[in-house]
Amino acid sequence: MRVLLTGVAGFIGSHLAERLLAEGHHVTGVDCFTDYYARWIKEKNLANLLPHPAFTFIEADVNNLDLSSLLKEIEIVFHFSAQAGVRASWGQSFDEYLHHNIAATQKLLEAARKSEVKKIIYASSSSVYGACQELPMQETSPCRPYSPYGVTKLAGEHLCLLYYKNYGLPCLALRFFTVYGPRQRPDMAFHKFFRSILTQQPLNVFGNGQQTRDFTYIEDIIDGVLAAGHHGQPGEVYNLGGGQQIALNEVFPYLEKITGSQIKINYTHPQSGDVPHTFAAIDKARKELGYQPRFSLEEGLKAEWEWLKMLYNKEDEKRNG
Ligand code: NAD
Repeated sequence: MRVLLTGVAGFIGSHLAERLLAEGHHVTGVDCFTDYYARWIKEKNLANLLPHPAFTFIEADVNNLDLSSLLKEIEIVFHFSAQAGVRASWGQSFDEYLHHNIAATQKLLEAARKSEVKKIIYASSSSVYGACQELPMQETSPCRPYSPYGVTKLAGEHLCLLYYKNYGLPCLALRFFTVYGPRQRPDMAFHKFFRSILTQQPLNVFGNGQQTRDFTYIEDIIDGVLAAGHHGQPGEVYNLGGGQQIALNEVFPYLEKITGSQIKINYTHPQSGDVPHTFAAIDKARKELGYQPRFSLEEGLKAEWEWLKMLYNKEDEKRNG
């Protein structure tokens, strides 16, 4: 199949592109290298993809692409580009969130309406639930985002479902819960924790560490995304989580074991937009997609640690010429 994947240089997008190519698909990947984190990290994410004969890379902002021409050959779209990050979404940078998360999604959907695309898969987020009281969070639980980022992700999701209802555009949304593993974004907690350990700094934790998350290993997410490509129903929303609710404080013993370091923790103020708990009900994805997370937290963290050590060694090499 011919696939369009937006956000291909990012954490999740680059893993998805690798798996799609391994399955024999032709992938056109788009990314504009937003400056949310360093370009060299995104270029490294792309390194295995660029030489592949079935991969085409377009450096562009989705908002500025000739999407009608691009979509002519495409059967399935994975719309993964976004301005991510809860904490950065307050204040002036909200414009970036409007541009990358809402405007780009609307343009893509408008162009897709006039195309022969068979499926559009939108990367949504657990942030659409906000500080939901219902745990685990069901796809039918109320969506009341707690951050501007969550508002824009929910708006993107609503746009997808509107185009399905009004025009029959075959869109579906996957709500990812805190994804981690190799290539995790530098603003995310595990990446920051490992980086602090590497540089022998204390770990900064927002709040008292009793907040819980449903951490999902990247390979599990990609399994779920590919399964949605095969079995996901247009007009539907699916949670993709790790299936376990884990407090941040429970993670630290794993970090010590994996890195062999004693860690020191600085507990600081909770951040605006951070919710106390996330926990995904994954029964729907299990039943309809055959989704089954396979990786334990310890396995996933080990893989992230190994990757991160290599990443920053290379950075040092570069700096030292
Ligand atoms: P990421 O920042 O690593 O990747 C996103 C990529 O999209 C970046 O490379 C960026 O340059 C690109 N991009 C942004 N706007 C663009 C535009 N207008 N045109 C072209 N490229 C653009 O983020 P990620 O963690 O890989 O997240 C991927 C998707 O999954 C996002 O939609 C995000 O909202 C969603 N998500 C991620 C998580 C998570 O835990 N990582 C959780 C829930 C949802």
